[in-house]
Amino acid sequence: MTKLIGIDVGGTNLRLGVLDDGLVIDDMRFQANFSDICKNNTTDIAWHKILEVTASAIKVMLKKHPDVGAIGIGFPGFIDPNTQQILQSPNLPGLLNADLSGDLSRMVGLPVIVENDALVAAYGEFCSLEFADKNLIYVGLGTGVGGGLILNGQPFGGQHGMAMEIGHMITVPDGRLCGCGNNGCMEQYASATGVSHSYQNFTGKIFTADAIATLARAGDVDAIKAYEIAGLNLASAMANIIKVLDIRQILIGGGMSQAWDLMAHTFQATLSKALIPVLRGQVKVEISNTGDQAGIIGAALLSLHSQSQNT
Ligand SMILES: [Zn+2]
Repeated sequence: MTKLIGIDVGGTNLRLGVLDDGLVIDDMRFQANFSDICKNNTTDIAWHKILEVTASAIKVMLKKHPDVGAIGIGFPGFIDPNTQQILQSPNLPGLLNADLSGDLSRMVGLPVIVENDALVAAYGEFCSLEFADKNLIYVGLGTGVGGGLILNGQPFGGQHGMAMEIGHMITVPDGRLCGCGNNGCMEQYASATGVSHSYQNFTGKIFTADAIATLARAGDVDAIKAYEIAGLNLASAMANIIKVLDIRQILIGGGMSQAWDLMAHTFQATLSKALIPVLRGQVKVEISNTGDQAGIIGAALLSLHSQSQNT
């Protein structure tokens, strides 16, 4: 098996890892704020800069590992499953129908596969851990809430690359305004941003979700309540997904999964109540322990998977 590069596109940086026989053997981080690049430039110039930054990061890695055979990228946005184009990226509004796969492939001379970042993380988690079933619902708790679905051991992004937008399931009718334009989306309550908003509503104070977690563990009642609200809204959405899909394995990842202890009790109680009786007690919830490498591993393995599908 040749080496593979997996790339995780984050909010302020690119993380690249080289995978050899399923193991990450090298790992580098490059400063790259695509959101700022898009804000401060015309769409054409922004796209050119994004390609330049990504290609030069890849070339640094290729100098160290010339025997890489393919590259996979987890990108925050809707990816067309057939053309690999980035149809839209909610955090990078100018990017429409961008051909990251084709443009980068021409620049670095290797096949490049692009997939939604949460789906890539789901696949990375699924391939890294031993699961009893071949189906998995992955939840990425961070600034927003992303979702990834593994069906029969394969990532499922939907017919148009828009499956599992679970953060935008409405759990509070007429609730908080979401970036998507709707009101009451789950991620407005269950994400790090949501926890900050809840705490601000209770106290008038603006703190990060991390700081609120510290306060909650020290007994701050409002901080505890902010995390309980997160658990409650996440569970409401999960109960509905489980009823639709009949999948009983959930993996929670993302930065805010570190605060799962503050959400778990409310989550379990709400989930149990909201599920149909036969499903109660049947759903296994696990917390990711792959650190932040799932995106890299998933992207790299997906490049291989797509190659084999195309041959
Ligand atoms: Zn929304």
